[in-house]
Amino acid sequence: MSYQNGVQLGKQRIPIKINSRRKRLALRISPTGEVAILSPPNVPFKYIESFASANQAWLEEQLSKLALKPQPVVYTGSVGERWPFLGEGLVLVQGEGCVVQPRDGHLLIPSETDPKQALFYWYLERVNEWLPSRFNYWVAQTGFQPTRLQIKTYKARWGSCDRHGRIQLNWMLIGLPQWVVDYVIVHELCHLTHMNHSPAFWQLSRHHYPDTDQARAWLKQNGHPIISQLYGL
Ligand SMILES: [Zn+2]
Repeated sequence: MSYQNGVQLGKQRIPIKINSRRKRLALRISPTGEVAILSPPNVPFKYIESFASANQAWLEEQLSKLALKPQPVVYTGSVGERWPFLGEGLVLVQGEGCVVQPRDGHLLIPSETDPKQALFYWYLERVNEWLPSRFNYWVAQTGFQPTRLQIKTYKARWGSCDRHGRIQLNWMLIGLPQWVVDYVIVHELCHLTHMNHSPAFWQLSRHHYPDTDQARAWLKQNGHPIISQLYGL
Protein backbone atom coordinates (compact mmCIF):
# COMPACT_ATOMS: atom_id res chain seq x y z
CA MET A 1 0.00 0.00 0.00
CA SER A 2 1.06 3.56 -0.53
CA TYR A 3 -0.24 7.11 -0.48
CA GLN A 4 -1.83 6.68 -3.91
CA ASN A 5 -3.52 3.41 -3.06
CA GLY A 6 -4.78 4.47 0.33
CA VAL A 7 -5.00 2.41 3.48
CA GLN A 8 -6.57 -1.04 3.60
CA LEU A 9 -8.81 -1.34 6.64
CA GLY A 10 -10.68 -4.64 6.90
CA LYS A 11 -12.46 -5.01 3.58
CA GLN A 12 -12.32 -1.31 2.90
CA ARG A 13 -9.71 0.66 1.02
CA ILE A 14 -9.63 4.20 2.28
CA PRO A 15 -8.14 6.94 0.11
CA ILE A 16 -5.78 9.48 1.62
CA LYS A 17 -6.37 13.14 0.84
CA ILE A 18 -3.44 15.41 1.51
CA ASN A 19 -4.23 19.00 2.35
CA SER A 20 -1.49 21.51 3.08
CA ARG A 21 -3.68 23.53 5.44
CA ARG A 22 -4.43 20.54 7.64
CA LYS A 23 -2.77 20.22 11.05
CA ARG A 24 -3.97 16.78 12.15
CA LEU A 25 -5.09 13.47 10.70
CA ALA A 26 -8.82 12.91 10.48
CA LEU A 27 -11.28 10.37 9.15
CA ARG A 28 -14.09 11.86 7.12
CA ILE A 29 -17.38 10.11 6.36
CA SER A 30 -19.58 11.74 3.71
CA PRO A 31 -23.38 11.68 4.09
CA THR A 32 -23.45 8.89 1.49
CA GLY A 33 -20.92 6.77 3.42
CA GLU A 34 -17.69 7.46 1.53
CA VAL A 35 -14.72 7.40 3.83
CA ALA A 36 -11.44 9.28 3.42
CA ILE A 37 -8.40 9.98 5.54
CA LEU A 38 -7.50 13.66 5.59
CA SER A 39 -3.85 14.25 6.21
CA PRO A 40 -1.38 17.12 6.46
CA PRO A 41 1.54 16.77 4.03
CA ASN A 42 4.60 14.68 4.94
CA VAL A 43 2.98 12.35 7.45
CA PRO A 44 4.76 8.97 7.27
CA PHE A 45 2.54 6.33 5.65
CA LYS A 46 3.04 3.93 8.59
CA TYR A 47 1.67 6.58 10.92
CA ILE A 48 -1.43 7.09 8.77
CA GLU A 49 -1.98 3.32 8.73
CA SER A 50 -1.83 3.03 12.49
CA PHE A 51 -4.13 6.05 12.87
CA ALA A 52 -6.66 4.28 10.62
CA SER A 53 -6.53 1.00 12.48
CA ALA A 54 -6.78 2.74 15.85
CA ASN A 55 -10.04 4.26 14.61
CA GLN A 56 -11.41 1.17 12.89
CA ALA A 57 -13.99 0.31 15.57
CA TRP A 58 -15.25 3.88 15.66
CA LEU A 59 -15.45 4.00 11.87
CA GLU A 60 -17.44 0.78 11.67
CA GLU A 61 -19.83 2.05 14.30
CA GLN A 62 -20.39 5.30 12.38
CA LEU A 63 -20.95 3.44 9.12
CA SER A 64 -23.49 1.08 10.64
CA LYS A 65 -25.36 4.04 12.15
CA LEU A 66 -25.37 5.67 8.73
CA ALA A 67 -26.71 2.50 7.10
CA LEU A 68 -29.75 2.62 9.41
CA LYS A 69 -30.62 6.16 8.39
CA PRO A 70 -32.81 6.65 5.32
CA GLN A 71 -30.43 7.99 2.68
CA PRO A 72 -31.34 11.08 0.72
CA VAL A 73 -31.67 10.20 -2.95
CA VAL A 74 -28.87 11.56 -5.08
CA TYR A 75 -30.10 12.78 -8.45
CA THR A 76 -27.67 12.76 -11.34
CA GLY A 77 -30.00 13.40 -14.28
CA SER A 78 -29.77 9.81 -15.45
CA VAL A 79 -32.37 7.81 -17.32
CA GLY A 80 -35.24 6.53 -15.18
CA GLU A 81 -35.07 9.31 -12.60
CA ARG A 82 -38.24 11.16 -11.79
CA TRP A 83 -38.14 14.96 -12.02
CA PRO A 84 -40.91 17.20 -10.69
CA PHE A 85 -42.80 19.42 -13.09
CA LEU A 86 -46.02 21.22 -12.13
CA GLY A 87 -46.94 18.51 -9.66
CA GLU A 88 -46.11 15.61 -11.96
CA GLY A 89 -43.06 13.37 -11.78
CA LEU A 90 -41.58 13.11 -15.28
CA VAL A 91 -39.39 10.08 -15.90
CA LEU A 92 -36.17 10.89 -17.74
CA VAL A 93 -35.56 9.24 -21.09
CA GLN A 94 -32.75 9.95 -23.50
CA GLY A 95 -32.86 10.84 -27.16
CA GLU A 96 -30.26 11.76 -29.75
CA GLY A 97 -30.25 15.20 -31.32
CA CYS A 98 -33.39 16.29 -29.48
CA VAL A 99 -34.28 19.25 -27.29
CA VAL A 100 -35.54 18.74 -23.75
CA GLN A 101 -39.28 18.14 -23.94
CA PRO A 102 -42.01 16.44 -21.91
CA ARG A 103 -43.82 13.62 -23.65
CA ASP A 104 -46.60 11.59 -22.01
CA GLY A 105 -45.24 11.33 -18.50
CA HIS A 106 -41.62 11.31 -19.68
CA LEU A 107 -39.04 13.98 -20.12
CA LEU A 108 -36.85 13.54 -23.14
CA ILE A 109 -33.29 14.83 -22.70
CA PRO A 110 -30.52 14.91 -25.31
CA SER A 111 -27.86 12.26 -24.82
CA GLU A 112 -25.06 14.51 -26.06
CA THR A 113 -25.19 17.12 -23.28
CA ASP A 114 -24.71 17.27 -19.53
CA PRO A 115 -28.19 16.18 -18.39
CA LYS A 116 -28.27 18.35 -15.28
CA GLN A 117 -27.36 21.45 -17.24
CA ALA A 118 -29.93 20.65 -19.93
CA LEU A 119 -32.56 20.17 -17.22
CA PHE A 120 -31.62 23.40 -15.50
CA TYR A 121 -31.99 25.49 -18.66
CA TRP A 122 -35.20 23.75 -19.58
CA TYR A 123 -36.69 24.47 -16.16
CA LEU A 124 -35.62 28.11 -16.28
CA GLU A 125 -37.20 28.63 -19.69
CA ARG A 126 -40.47 27.09 -18.51
CA VAL A 127 -40.38 29.21 -15.33
CA ASN A 128 -39.79 32.44 -17.23
CA GLU A 129 -42.69 31.85 -19.57
CA TRP A 130 -45.10 30.52 -16.95
CA LEU A 131 -44.51 32.10 -13.54
CA PRO A 132 -44.90 35.80 -14.49
CA SER A 133 -48.26 35.12 -16.14
CA ARG A 134 -49.46 33.21 -13.07
CA PHE A 135 -48.26 36.09 -10.93
CA ASN A 136 -50.03 38.68 -13.08
CA TYR A 137 -53.21 36.63 -12.93
CA TRP A 138 -53.19 36.80 -9.12
CA VAL A 139 -52.29 40.48 -9.07
CA ALA A 140 -55.38 41.14 -11.19
CA GLN A 141 -57.53 38.80 -9.06
CA THR A 142 -56.55 40.27 -5.71
CA GLY A 143 -55.96 43.91 -6.58
CA PHE A 144 -52.62 44.06 -4.74
CA GLN A 145 -50.00 46.32 -6.27
CA PRO A 146 -46.52 44.84 -6.07
CA THR A 147 -43.76 46.96 -7.58
CA ARG A 148 -41.84 44.12 -9.18
CA LEU A 149 -41.53 40.36 -9.54
CA GLN A 150 -38.09 38.79 -9.21
CA ILE A 151 -37.42 35.13 -9.89
CA LYS A 152 -34.67 33.81 -7.65
CA THR A 153 -32.90 30.71 -6.39
CA TYR A 154 -33.60 29.86 -2.75
CA LYS A 155 -32.62 26.75 -0.88
CA ALA A 156 -35.14 26.92 1.91
CA ARG A 157 -38.06 29.15 0.92
CA TRP A 158 -40.56 29.52 -1.89
CA GLY A 159 -40.87 33.26 -1.94
CA SER A 160 -40.51 36.53 -0.11
CA CYS A 161 -41.78 40.07 -0.11
CA ASP A 162 -39.68 43.09 0.78
CA ARG A 163 -40.63 46.49 2.10
CA HIS A 164 -40.26 48.08 -1.33
CA GLY A 165 -43.19 46.01 -2.50
CA ARG A 166 -41.03 43.67 -4.57
CA ILE A 167 -41.96 40.02 -4.59
CA GLN A 168 -39.38 37.29 -5.02
CA LEU A 169 -40.38 33.82 -6.12
CA ASN A 170 -38.22 30.71 -6.15
CA TRP A 171 -37.88 29.27 -9.67
CA MET A 172 -38.27 25.78 -8.13
CA LEU A 173 -41.99 26.50 -7.77
CA ILE A 174 -42.11 24.95 -11.27
CA GLY A 175 -41.92 21.55 -9.54
CA LEU A 176 -45.11 22.09 -7.51
CA PRO A 177 -48.73 21.60 -8.54
CA GLN A 178 -50.19 24.84 -9.85
CA TRP A 179 -52.77 25.13 -7.06
CA VAL A 180 -49.93 25.18 -4.51
CA VAL A 181 -47.96 27.74 -6.54
CA ASP A 182 -51.08 29.91 -6.62
CA TYR A 183 -51.15 29.80 -2.83
CA VAL A 184 -47.48 30.84 -2.60
CA ILE A 185 -48.11 33.80 -4.90
CA VAL A 186 -51.16 34.90 -2.89
CA HIS A 187 -49.20 34.44 0.34
CA GLU A 188 -46.48 36.83 -0.81
CA LEU A 189 -49.03 39.31 -2.17
CA CYS A 190 -50.79 39.36 1.22
CA HIS A 191 -47.47 40.42 2.78
CA LEU A 192 -47.95 43.74 0.97
CA THR A 193 -50.66 44.40 3.57
CA HIS A 194 -49.27 42.48 6.56
CA MET A 195 -45.48 42.08 6.82
CA ASN A 196 -45.94 39.24 9.33
CA HIS A 197 -47.79 35.98 9.87
CA SER A 198 -50.40 37.37 12.26
CA PRO A 199 -53.97 36.01 12.44
CA ALA A 200 -55.00 38.97 10.27
CA PHE A 201 -52.47 37.87 7.64
CA TRP A 202 -53.85 34.32 7.53
CA GLN A 203 -57.37 35.64 7.36
CA LEU A 204 -56.45 37.75 4.35
CA SER A 205 -54.71 34.79 2.70
CA ARG A 206 -57.78 32.57 3.19
CA HIS A 207 -59.99 35.34 1.86
CA HIS A 208 -58.06 35.52 -1.43
CA TYR A 209 -57.14 31.86 -1.50
CA PRO A 210 -59.61 29.62 0.37
CA ASP A 211 -57.37 26.52 0.08
CA THR A 212 -54.59 28.25 2.05
CA ASP A 213 -54.52 25.59 4.79
CA GLN A 214 -54.54 22.66 2.36
CA ALA A 215 -51.70 24.20 0.38
CA ARG A 216 -49.64 24.80 3.52
CA ALA A 217 -50.16 21.20 4.58
CA TRP A 218 -49.16 20.01 1.10
CA LEU A 219 -45.96 22.06 1.21
CA LYS A 220 -45.09 20.88 4.68
CA GLN A 221 -45.35 17.29 3.55
CA ASN A 222 -43.95 17.45 0.02
CA GLY A 223 -42.05 20.68 -0.41
CA HIS A 224 -38.64 19.81 0.94
CA PRO A 225 -37.69 16.88 -1.36
CA ILE A 226 -38.69 18.94 -4.41
CA ILE A 227 -36.61 21.93 -3.40
CA SER A 228 -33.58 19.80 -2.58
CA GLN A 229 -33.80 17.88 -5.87
CA LEU A 230 -34.06 21.03 -7.98
CA TYR A 231 -31.46 22.88 -5.94
CA GLY A 232 -29.00 20.16 -6.96
CA LEU A 233 -29.10 21.27 -10.61
ZN1 LIG B 1 -44.85 34.67 4.71
